[in-house]
Amino acid sequence: MTDTDIVVVGAGAAGLAAGERLRETGVEAIVVEAAERVGGRAFTDTSVFGVPFDLGCHWMHSASRNPFRPIADALDHRYLMRSSRRAAHLYLKDRLADDETRAAAWEAVQGAFRAAEAAGERGLDVAAADVIDPPTEWAPLALHWMRLLSALDAPQISTLDLCRYADTGENWPVLDGYGALVARAGRDVPVRTGVAVTHIDWSGRGVRAETSAGTVHAKAAIVTVSTNVLAEGGIRFTPELPVDAAEAIAACPTGHAEKVAISFDCPLPGLDSTAYIDTMDPDDPDRPAINFTVYEDADARPLMIGQLGGSVARGLEQAGAAAMTDFALAALADAFGSEIRDRVHRVHTTHWGSDPLIRGAYSCALPGKADLRARLGEPIGERVLLAGEATSPDAFSTAHGARLTGLAAAERAARIVASL
Ligand SMILES: Cc1cc2nc3c(=O)[nH]c(=O)nc-3n(C[C@H](O)[C@H](O)[C@H](O)COP(=O)(O)OP(=O)(O)OC[C@H]3O[C@@H](n4cnc5c(N)ncnc54)[C@H](O)[C@@H]3O)c2cc1C
Repeated sequence: MTDTDIVVVGAGAAGLAAGERLRETGVEAIVVEAAERVGGRAFTDTSVFGVPFDLGCHWMHSASRNPFRPIADALDHRYLMRSSRRAAHLYLKDRLADDETRAAAWEAVQGAFRAAEAAGERGLDVAAADVIDPPTEWAPLALHWMRLLSALDAPQISTLDLCRYADTGENWPVLDGYGALVARAGRDVPVRTGVAVTHIDWSGRGVRAETSAGTVHAKAAIVTVSTNVLAEGGIRFTPELPVDAAEAIAACPTGHAEKVAISFDCPLPGLDSTAYIDTMDPDDPDRPAINFTVYEDADARPLMIGQLGGSVARGLEQAGAAAMTDFALAALADAFGSEIRDRVHRVHTTHWGSDPLIRGAYSCALPGKADLRARLGEPIGERVLLAGEATSPDAFSTAHGARLTGLAAAERAARIVASL
């Protein structure tokens, strides 16, 4: 480790973008990543099912203005131009809902989001739970989708933060893997993987970053780790981060989202590959809903990828892979018959919550705290710049938001270097 202009901490979508832009502007930089791979929450695995499986981000949100879309086009990286999240099938335990019922259920989900966003648009910064009122019969589904999109439960979601998320309604699944796309976008950035930053001393001129492979002296640092990593002391700062920044980090915790992927060695009737399905139990309002995306593994077996959000994701992830699998499989056995329990081919579960380098999924401002998010983007002492999804004013919780913050932080850092 050595002297450089900028040290970039973390090589997820934000850190890779920062490294890319610093390279383009001719500013010397060292990018360090604690994990043995780049990408962070953008990670495509192909080893388990023989096809790309995104453990983290999968959908290019706001696709028409998503900076990863032109990159995907240039690299011939395949995605589907599918907008609506609306499920093709809704299973009410063991009953397939008819079109009218499915439309009513989706309208209840949309209505909950509309109510929360309308409160935010009126300037109200309150809990989403206080302003939504989905019809009782569809409440489990509406609450599931809220947990999934914000990674926290409705009582913890700020209406103002929710309405500030800029959404074109285009959510395009990346068939070749969003994680793979993020890594390909940053392929020219030299990254020191397996090197953790333990301490950033910004008490003097510039910064001194202590890492597991030695000390880096730099003029400024771009720190892209999640808000939970920062809040829980994953990196020590000297002096400690200012109160303003610490408050903002606490105001935008990294919520929870996890996936359970199950392949079966029998066909699941009536499902097209790439279809979306929702499931919920109308007989048990306390049983959380779960949605699935249908794919095929490399041998054309059905591959069902279930999504969990908020406290449900957190509780099941903490309970372990078996609990996550049981929960997802119970919904699928209800829908397709209990005999499919004996036809499970392979299972893979994510564990973002207990990964010490991530500690959650994506950020959400707590009620009453939405305005604090803007502070995350403010340089600290003109030498510590926070970047990453949580620092985006309007594309937080996404990979493209992370990329944009990385590019902006690099430009800011280049100006700091030029001014010295
Ligand atoms: C289950 C799930 C589903 C998602 N779905 C979508 C989706 O469909 N679409 C979408 O746009 N977004 C989605 N997201 C969110 C998206 O993946 C993230 O917002 C984005 O990837 C975050 O990028 P980042 O660079 O801000 O942070 P990260 O990816 O977390 O990068 C930070 C990096 O810092 C590293 N690090 C941590 N501590 C240290 C240290 N001490 N020293 C050095 N390095 C360190 C980490 O290992 C990590 O690689 C999803 C996320 C999850 C978890």
